[in-house]
Amino acid sequence: MQAQELKASFTKRYVIAISLIALLSTGAFYFLHLGLKTSASTALIVNMSGKQRMLSQRVASLSQQYYFYSNSNNAHLEAVRADLLLAIEEMARANAALSSGRLKEGVEVKLSPEILEIYYGEIALKKRVEQYLERAKSLSQTPSQNESAELLREIVHISNTLLQDLNTAVFQYQIEGEKNIAEVKQLETLVWIVTLITLLLEVIFIFQPMAHKIQELFQEVLWNQENLEQQISIRTMSLEHANTKLLQMASHDPLTGLKNRLNMERDLEELITQFDKHHLPYAVLMLDIDWFKKINDSYGHDAGDFVLCEISKIMLENVRVQDSVYRAGGEEFVIIFNRITREQAIEKAEEIRINIQKHQFVFDNQVLQCTVSGGIYHPDIRKSSTVQGVLKLADNALYEAKHSGRNNIVEAKHEKFNHID
Ligand code: GH3
Ligand code: MG
Ligand code: MG
Repeated sequence: MQAQELKASFTKRYVIAISLIALLSTGAFYFLHLGLKTSASTALIVNMSGKQRMLSQRVASLSQQYYFYSNSNNAHLEAVRADLLLAIEEMARANAALSSGRLKEGVEVKLSPEILEIYYGEIALKKRVEQYLERAKSLSQTPSQNESAELLREIVHISNTLLQDLNTAVFQYQIEGEKNIAEVKQLETLVWIVTLITLLLEVIFIFQPMAHKIQELFQEVLWNQENLEQQISIRTMSLEHANTKLLQMASHDPLTGLKNRLNMERDLEELITQFDKHHLPYAVLMLDIDWFKKINDSYGHDAGDFVLCEISKIMLENVRVQDSVYRAGGEEFVIIFNRITREQAIEKAEEIRINIQKHQFVFDNQVLQCTVSGGIYHPDIRKSSTVQGVLKLADNALYEAKHSGRNNIVEAKHEKFNHID
């Protein structure tokens, strides 16, 4: 997955998770606010209706006092009358508020059918409170004793039944208030449960998949890295293989598998150095197939190749482990004998020559015979400290072998040749 896509996917999940949490906190805040408001308005309405009950009693009591003082023309009459009018006014205001639901400035409640029934139904509490207060007001304004007595009797009478119905209203307000608070509490609990469930779902559907995605990504990166390392090691191996092959090709002859001239000159240089330092004896035998052109001409080029390979095998079979055989070019070979005396070297060269002479080359159901001529160099005869010098001496000896009839080995002799180096 692309880094950009991953970032977009993570951002989307994060925004969803945060939005859900924000939504739930808003819900929780709203219900808490609602709960507080409900409990405040419940307390206020219960308080007001309780006070209404107390006011009805106070109006009755002040009415009695007023009547009593008006008979005896007491000095307190005006004070009682003022208190009575105040209580009437207060009760009238409370009556209007409770029967409409507008409890005070900014606080309004919806009245239940039960409360409406109490105020406006059969009990007609609103109207009866008004009538009650009207009588009390009339009492405070009536100078006639007879009329006052009658009004007081009515006030006391109404006051008893009114008290009962105001009580009913108080209870109803209380029941409804408690019910409202319980409902809000239930809603709060519901919001709490929904919050927990939502958080759990967020963990399952948002955060866990996110964690898995990150883990997958890390594994993919790790896998890619391992894969890359593997590819590098495979390439390194194949490069090493190719290098070895190239080295083999550069230093070996593809037809016979023998080491080539390059190798020969390098090895010879090493031997010359060793000889100069430690006098470790060695010999160089240069061999050339006699009349090889005729083989090619008579039997074909493939037959010539076959003979080259067969002679290579014979030479390899007849040298020691410390010796090396090289194809110097065309039908010319060089054998380097390591740590060998002059006599041993001549003996070995002869042995090889004879074995080739005796060998029957069977190619394409035809039997061919073949001989070689050789020139041999040994530092005991004449010392040369350069590769070219040594090879020249061996080559000169070979030349002599060819001219003295072929199929023989000639030693490089110093008295016969000029100084080479
Ligand atoms: P001499 O006894 O004087 O050495 O005679 P010769 O015929 O061997 O010598 P000459 O130099 O005239 O011929 C060498 C031939 O070897 C010529 C060439 O075509 C052949 N030759 C060289 N390399 C190869 C090879 O890889 N395969 C084959 N089949 N022939 C080769
Ligand atoms: Mg030749
Ligand atoms: Mg030849």
